[in-house]
Amino acid sequence: MALVNIEQVHKYYGELHVLKGIDLRVKAGEVVSIIGRSGSGKSTLLRCINGLEDYQQGGIVVDGKEVTSDEVQVRRLARSVGMVFQSFNLFPHLTVGENLMLAPRLVLKQAREEARELALEMLGKVGLADKFDQYPDRLSGGQQQRVAIARALAMSPKVLLCDEITSALDPELVGEVLKVLEELAAEGITLILVTHEMNFARDVGDRVVFMHQGKVWESGPAEELFARPRTAELQSFINAVL
Ligand code: ADP
Ligand code: MG
Repeated sequence: MALVNIEQVHKYYGELHVLKGIDLRVKAGEVVSIIGRSGSGKSTLLRCINGLEDYQQGGIVVDGKEVTSDEVQVRRLARSVGMVFQSFNLFPHLTVGENLMLAPRLVLKQAREEARELALEMLGKVGLADKFDQYPDRLSGGQQQRVAIARALAMSPKVLLCDEITSALDPELVGEVLKVLEELAAEGITLILVTHEMNFARDVGDRVVFMHQGKVWESGPAEELFARPRTAELQSFINAVL
């Protein structure tokens, strides 16, 4: 069984049919890039995968656990699914180290020392071990986003979801964040990311999923998809972004 199994998921916001029968399977260690126009349902899909949104039909199973909006399940899921957002969402009143230690302490009930060691290790992974005692507002946007990635990793998620995490960054800061993702991918992390970085999708991703109007319109290996789009919708998207 795949690590993430999404079957025929339908999601409505009131009358608005946002996800129209999504099927997607992601194996452990796979890097899947989700692309598509604004409003095609990419963020909603990620939010359904980590239980932030409920859905009305179909099923999502992560690491053998069904994703429902049931409170207990969502808490259990928080250990399997990590998410990083476009806006870094770090707690401004906590130091970088405290940001990383919070969830492992509260949710995983780790002892202070254990959480501290893990936090330092994860900060090391993103090249920011020396920022442990800094407050987030002293860091650049790229550094803050790397902290947000480290914070998600501190929960040892089975899969990491990233929703346009470089979109709010100044262009010169994008590279350092993509480099961290590339290193994580090389280590074998399972990654599902919504991205506008087509080069990253092509060079690092195993597979690209093109969403259009709430559906998986096309999917496949990046090279193939970009070189030979089968639908006019993907062709026109590629023309617009590349
Ligand atoms: P994308 O991330 O691809 O830009 P979204 O998943 O954010 O797309 O949005 C898909 C559709 O759902 C859009 O039409 C958007 O306006 C709508 N939508 C998103 N979030 C909400 C919400 N909380 N309430 C109502 N409609 C929403
Ligand atoms: Mg979005």
